[in-house]
Amino acid sequence: MLELDQVTKSFGTQTVLYPTSLVVTEGTTTVLIGPSGCGKSTLLRMMIGLILPDAGTIQFQGETFTAANQLALRHRIGYVIQDGGLFPHLSAFDNVALLARHLGREPSWVKSRVAELAELVRLPQSALSRFPAQLSGGQRQRVGIMRAFVLDPPLILLDEPMGALDPLVRYDLQNDLREIFRTLKKSVVLVTHDMGEAGFFGDEVILLGSGRIMQRGTLNDLLKHPADEFVTRFIQAQRWVQSDDVNTSKGRHRGHSGEHSTLQHDKHVTSKPN
Ligand code: ADP
Ligand code: MG
Repeated sequence: MLELDQVTKSFGTQTVLYPTSLVVTEGTTTVLIGPSGCGKSTLLRMMIGLILPDAGTIQFQGETFTAANQLALRHRIGYVIQDGGLFPHLSAFDNVALLARHLGREPSWVKSRVAELAELVRLPQSALSRFPAQLSGGQRQRVGIMRAFVLDPPLILLDEPMGALDPLVRYDLQNDLREIFRTLKKSVVLVTHDMGEAGFFGDEVILLGSGRIMQRGTLNDLLKHPADEFVTRFIQAQRWVQSDDVNTSKGRHRGHSGEHSTLQHDKHVTSKPN
């Protein structure tokens, strides 16, 4: 489906990605995880041809990305960015419809496609006429996902799509999204910095650190057999809910609202670090 072979990228004198190879298999979800600034978004932008690599090749469905074909290939890949990236002056409907209209699809096709996608991502039809500022954060992300799906691309790339959402909204959207990916048999690359989310979505989890793949495997592989100190530290830095890890010092109420953000991990991951 998507194959990166010895891909590198520098910005000026800064090397953001050292030679990296990876394969995204059809119908599976690959999660890229790692600390801020380690090159996750750069890698994702290269996968959709927004940035060309300095060296190495990227093949999508057997075609190598070049300056000449990157635009055409991009139409076969869906892309969701962190804040949804919606145009504020367009309604939800128009945001979703933009690319299809640009490519000359019939208005009747566009209308039924948008309605179908709203149902798929469980966005109320009444929200379609609203502008992004009139939608909740979760609804905006659902519109961003509809936009990525409009041409029914086989590959979907998502850059921290749920990073800005509150835990309950995030929990529902995670469930809906995983169900959609499975039902539609999409190939997916999802960027996150949250281990629970990585485990919930990832058939394969790739942990990046300063421009290199530090470890790849299932989440359980990483948890049970961390390759080195970096992986161990990255895992330890995630908060998991365990009763002996909860702050019980005086003056702090049980059920403090801050605990919700960690409780969700419990449902997502079957194995936790010791
Ligand atoms: P992540 O998504 O993992 O947080 P990024 O891929 O956004 O990391 O960035 C990796 C590094 O590359 C950062 O140091 C960032 O400042 C730098 N970088 C990203 N894009 C550019 C750019 N267009 N020009 C210069 N530096 C960039
Ligand atoms: Mg990023």
